Amino acid sequence: MRRMFIAGNWKMNRSPTEAASLADQLKRSLLDHTSVDIAVAPTALAIPAVIAKLKHSNIHVAGQNIHHQTSGAYTGEISAEMLRSTGCEYVLIGHSERRHKFGESKENTQQKVQAAFRGGLLPILCVGETLEQRQAGQAAMVTTQQVAAAMAFLPADQAAAVTIAYEPVWAIGTGHTASPTQAQEMHAIIRDWLRKNYPLFVSKQIRIQYGGSVKPHNAAALLSQADVDGALVGGASLQADSFTAIIEAAVALKKAG
Ligand code: PEP
Repeated sequence: MRRMFIAGNWKMNRSPTEAASLADQLKRSLLDHTSVDIAVAPTALAIPAVIAKLKHSNIHVAGQNIHHQTSGAYTGEISAEMLRSTGCEYVLIGHSERRHKFGESKENTQQKVQAAFRGGLLPILCVGETLEQRQAGQAAMVTTQQVAAAMAFLPADQAAAVTIAYEPVWAIGTGHTASPTQAQEMHAIIRDWLRKNYPLFVSKQIRIQYGGSVKPHNAAALLSQADVDGALVGGASLQADSFTAIIEAAVALKKAG
């Protein structure tokens, strides 16, 4: 049985003070929701304030990016070890904005996944096709190639500990969410790829989140799909009420069995 995992990506939003206040609201509204795993990814600058607020809560904290080296002459960058030392437990790797706006390659994602484990962080690996790739019938190929590249050389126990976030680029921040059927189809393709390339327990244990315009009104339909194990939420994670409503949808599904 895989535990649902709902994560909020705050992107370049909320000052440290605003982020601490949002974390405080979430801590109170999510207190009883212990049947699902929850994480938020504030800006690096806001992480210490958010971690301080979320102490003794059921909400974990994620970074949005890392550099693959431990330290050195990499102006503007942060290492996995540095993030871990703040109390972060997860890190997003290969978010589509990193791939498409900052030119991150598949090789970069592979280095960063390795670096995350080396530094004691659990990666949330984001993959997904563009609209052009989907229209050209390449969604499955592109997405599984991204998974294969980023997870290359990982031993099975680490592979099982990765969270994959399937996020079709055309659905991120656009309001055009994938239909539950489209999401399930792609999640099943990713899980099948894992089944063929790793020992069986990896595909059974690994969690695959859906991301792309997840909102309170569509969360239950997406999360009820057999291979959808949670959500990576952007815009709707910036308000305590909408993020809480998405988590409550996951909790309700869990209760319904
Ligand atoms: C994201 O940033 O990962 C995301 C899915 O954003 P949104 O929910 O706003 O589409």
